Amino acid sequence: MSLLSTAIEYLKGVGPAKADLLKAELGIFRFSDLLKLYPYRYVDRSQFYKISDLNSSLSEIQIVGIITSMQEVAGKGKSQRLTAIFQDGTGSVELIWFTGGAWIKKSLKLNTAYVLYGKPNFFNGTFSFPHPELELVEDFKKSPTKGLQPLYPSSEKLNKKGLNNKTLARLTRSLIPQLQGQLPDFFPPHFTERYGLMPRENALLAIHYPNSLEEAEAARNRLKFEELFFFQMEVAAQKRQHHHQTQSFAFTSIGRHFNHFYKEVLPFELTGAQKRVLKEIRNDMRFGQHMNRLLQGDVGSGKTMVALLAMLMAIDNGYQACLMAPTEILAQQHFTGIMELLNDMDIKVAILTGSVKTASRREIHAALEDGSLDILIGTHALLEDKVQYKNLGLAVVDEQHRFGVAQRAKLWKKNKLPPHILVMTATPIPRTLAMSIYGNLELSVIDELPPGRKPIKTTHAYDKDRNALFGFLEKEIDLGRQVYIVYPLIEESETLDYKDLMDGYESICRAFPRPKYQVSVVHGKMKPEDKDFEMQRFASGKTQIMVATTVIEVGVNVPNASVMVIESAERFGLSQLHQLRGRVGRGAEKSYCILMTSFKLSQDAKTRIKTMVRTQDGFEIADVDLKLRGPGDILGTRQSGNLDLHLADLRHDGPLMDLSRRALTDLFAADPNLKQQVHRSILHEFERRKHGKVDWGRIS
Ligand code: ADP
Ligand code: MG
Repeated sequence: MSLLSTAIEYLKGVGPAKADLLKAELGIFRFSDLLKLYPYRYVDRSQFYKISDLNSSLSEIQIVGIITSMQEVAGKGKSQRLTAIFQDGTGSVELIWFTGGAWIKKSLKLNTAYVLYGKPNFFNGTFSFPHPELELVEDFKKSPTKGLQPLYPSSEKLNKKGLNNKTLARLTRSLIPQLQGQLPDFFPPHFTERYGLMPRENALLAIHYPNSLEEAEAARNRLKFEELFFFQMEVAAQKRQHHHQTQSFAFTSIGRHFNHFYKEVLPFELTGAQKRVLKEIRNDMRFGQHMNRLLQGDVGSGKTMVALLAMLMAIDNGYQACLMAPTEILAQQHFTGIMELLNDMDIKVAILTGSVKTASRREIHAALEDGSLDILIGTHALLEDKVQYKNLGLAVVDEQHRFGVAQRAKLWKKNKLPPHILVMTATPIPRTLAMSIYGNLELSVIDELPPGRKPIKTTHAYDKDRNALFGFLEKEIDLGRQVYIVYPLIEESETLDYKDLMDGYESICRAFPRPKYQVSVVHGKMKPEDKDFEMQRFASGKTQIMVATTVIEVGVNVPNASVMVIESAERFGLSQLHQLRGRVGRGAEKSYCILMTSFKLSQDAKTRIKTMVRTQDGFEIADVDLKLRGPGDILGTRQSGNLDLHLADLRHDGPLMDLSRRALTDLFAADPNLKQQVHRSILHEFERRKHGKVDWGRIS
């Protein structure tokens, strides 16, 4: 048995009691667990501060000085404490202990030189140190505690139980030297050299006791690299498995519908990006292997057209296709748009949503089953078991972030073999992240907008600017444009939000009176057909102002709308703001987005608003969003649970992620199945990690 798997109680300085604590509080059962308790920071214990140099932004520091007085303050709870005055000739600070006062008082000596170690608190013009560490200068001189010292994650609870930083550091100091020569690298030397990585043993030791901050950083990077590397290896493995195992239908030919549409109907030239993506899709569906593809493209980049062309490929090969949208409005809009385009072609299209009546529903079911219906568009009503196709060949899912993995899985079962799947999302996820997270999805990106789009001018405004805002809206409307005014709707405060919306609606109606102006309102509490009616009124230009909740967020297309006003913009997330803004700037006119907020904004809200004002690039916005929220939040629970990253953080470690992916690509290019002797250890480590995921390190 290796030293690493030795039970923690056998480490010098760990008795049974401390072992129990380590297990219960920190999950440390073995030497290897302690080794992986990485410090979150270091303090330089060769540096000393003078009291006169303290400032309120310091973290843990050291001062040499003497205690001149101590006082026990009686009282209950927190008001009971021990305080002491500590001086160093340049000033004095207060030391405070809320527990253990009597004992501490007895053990400390007045007017004797101590090294004080702790984090200064600045309050009411003076500095104090709660629960500082104190070591007699003569002991300090003898102790090995010099240079950079690790700070381990801790908490008040752990401190109370005796697992403070000092104790943990003592344990790692006893462990580290024993491990020298015991930590072989699974990456061969030419590999670590090539990617500039510290060898594994050096990294594991240096991350606890580095000689310099640079060395600590290099150690940390090496350990992050391996996490990211194996993480991506698993993604690659999943992808390979999907590729090898899943059969689907081969769309061997490009047929008459596609050709006719492409040559005669398509109202514009596809962008280069659309063409490229279409080719990727075509190649995927051609050979009988299952396509499972994620299509990312910024708002307005023209994903729908790509989807339609892919559906025509399916139809030309004798299959049916479906398109699933997250909302009724959006499904309706897809249906109308596609019907218009396919107007004079012999392709049958139907729409199926929750509000379709039973009679027509039956008709649709029948037409699907006898194969006379070619394209079915709808909401998640498409997922119901009753919806059976004669021969579904391609399923397109629009605006993926609203559908879960489980829902997609249902689509897979709609034919004998799973139909090809094209998932479209307008919430750009940074490419690095997308490739890593959608393990079994191939990725296509439309990174180019159709020509002639004008930038949208985005501004930030407050309530006090409302008069000016109304004046501006009036001018735009008088020029013949239309305006959206959007209110947040957050589920927990639905009634309140609803009231905000209706108050807003009323004040808009007062400012823009009939008959000169017509105002629409759309919100989640309306019946689908009423919503639809209002949307249609707005889309056809009968109303000039659309007051709405975020029901209009996704996909609505009214090219004549040129102004998007977002009320309480601080309450929206970045991707939502970006989606909403994408509703304008679709026509030839110059467009505007106005973000209304209150004066008081949180730091994050400020960043969101600033980002929106600064850029219109969905990928850049996604990057900021990722930094603010973290990947788990953005992508839902499934993904965050799977990441299994301990040190690495996808928000900040993009470059390392890229490096590790490059390394993985190089490795597979040289040795696709890791058969070579030099790569054996990499494969072993991979298998060990995969296996260990279940209850690794948790067996005592
Ligand atoms: P999204 O990617 O947000 O779903 P859409 O597919 O709704 O974008 O397209 C937005 C608008 O751009 C639509 O009106 C569509 O007809 C138009 N469009 C799509 N591709 C092109 C193109 N290549 N040239 C010009 N307009 C295009
Ligand atoms: Mg769309």
